[in-house]
Amino acid sequence: MSNLYSHFKQKLREQKKNIIVTSHAKYTFTDINDFSAKLVQILLDLGMRQGDRLAAQIEKSEYNIFLYLACLRAGFIYLPLNNTYTHEELDFFFNDAQPKVIICDIKNEKAIINIKSANNSCVKTLDAEGKGSLLETIKTKVSTEASEIYSVDPNETAVILYTSGTTGKPKGAMITHQGLFSNAEDLLKTWGITDADSILHVLPLFHVHGLFFALNTALLSGASTILLPKFHPDQFFKYLPKATVFMGVPTYYTRLINDERLNQDQCKNMRLFISGSAPLLQSTFIEFESKTGHILLERYGMTETGINTSNPLEGSRKVGTVGLSLPSVNIRVVDDKDNAVPLNGIGNIQVKGSNLFKGYWNNPDKTKEEFTEDGYFKTGDLGTLDDDRYLSIVGRSKDLVITGGLNVYPKEIELTIDSIDGVIESAVIGLPHTDFGEAVVAIVSGDENKLDEQLIIEIVKQNHAGYKCPKKVFFIDSLPKNTMGKVQKNILREQFSKLFITT
Ligand code: AMP
Repeated sequence: MSNLYSHFKQKLREQKKNIIVTSHAKYTFTDINDFSAKLVQILLDLGMRQGDRLAAQIEKSEYNIFLYLACLRAGFIYLPLNNTYTHEELDFFFNDAQPKVIICDIKNEKAIINIKSANNSCVKTLDAEGKGSLLETIKTKVSTEASEIYSVDPNETAVILYTSGTTGKPKGAMITHQGLFSNAEDLLKTWGITDADSILHVLPLFHVHGLFFALNTALLSGASTILLPKFHPDQFFKYLPKATVFMGVPTYYTRLINDERLNQDQCKNMRLFISGSAPLLQSTFIEFESKTGHILLERYGMTETGINTSNPLEGSRKVGTVGLSLPSVNIRVVDDKDNAVPLNGIGNIQVKGSNLFKGYWNNPDKTKEEFTEDGYFKTGDLGTLDDDRYLSIVGRSKDLVITGGLNVYPKEIELTIDSIDGVIESAVIGLPHTDFGEAVVAIVSGDENKLDEQLIIEIVKQNHAGYKCPKKVFFIDSLPKNTMGKVQKNILREQFSKLFITT
């Protein structure tokens, strides 16, 4: 029983309740099982066979879920694509993954057909109401082949997700049936998710956070999912009283604490609020608790690994940390020669466990480069383990600033700046500098009436060694972020690149 879909089915087949609820429709497992088989039939008729890729760039709706489940049960590889990808980016993905079928929004059909690398694919359309050419050939009865759940090798690829990668070409992470199952099982244990839960789902379905962490846990536990197209405070407050679990990126929480509707009463049915995909500000953590009585649970994951660590359900949720390793995950913090650094020392975070992806699609060299000889994946994140083995992330290794030969971990300085009255948040980056190699610069958003450059430099100086102090501080309305709430430091680095050098 290695197909992830059979694990879902085993849990859900006895359930009579609605498993997916949207603002306009409700689906029991029988509905979902029948509809996904009908989709398999359509895809088989279009020529898809086990191992073929199905690329989908569609608006978020229950249809993303049905397509995902159809692919799982038939052994097709699901390839969800961010809705904001441009045609140039899509050209790269289609060329790399060679999907047999591409599903897109009706309004994008013409443009997608015109993309050269889509020439060998069958392009079909599907919108959030189920309209479009894909479902035109739906049959009421399906063949035995379409209703079967294909037996797959546990290490078979279920999904390819392209990593957001701030530099270089995106890489397609091959995520296996076993990896997804193992990680979802760990999360049920760690977060205590059961069929009594109701998960309020506002995240995109083209990213690990929404597709795996929120959805797989619901489907494997029998929890129901309240599916909303996106995060919108009005919708959030409308459905919150019906939910018990919410997963979000820090930006959602920062917006919520500034919303006067957030209070204890609104959250009285809630059991758990989880944050991840980007660093949570300490001020957000504190304010959220004071407004709701709920302690945010922060966790750490990534496309290639699923969730690695989480603060505990019971026990201390330490602010500024991403918690403890999940049961099936081993975490180590090492120096550049892969030797473990002592507790509280900073180093590269490496991960091993049944949660790991199996490699990058079409890219064995990159795959080899990112794994150690003893099977650990090099996350590219820098971190430290404290005496209780709680992990904190101090930055990405490519964000590390090396100034005059000395290492500056941006997070350390950002934490100090973020604690200054009037600062909302900050990003510390290294910019090319003729003397120092790189110079530390801080970009700050906040109340400019309360803040000035000298004040910030002075406070950093009081708390850190001189070489870690920003040489310049810039104020900005808000930091540039991607859809998952991650600060796009590459954009800042580019914007300020000529500050200390003239070419
Ligand atoms: P992605 O593959 O798009 O999910 O991005 C994964 C990256 O997001 C990780 O390698 C981390 O750099 C970052 N990340 C995820 N969760 C957290 C967190 N709780 N705190 C800080 N960074 C995080």
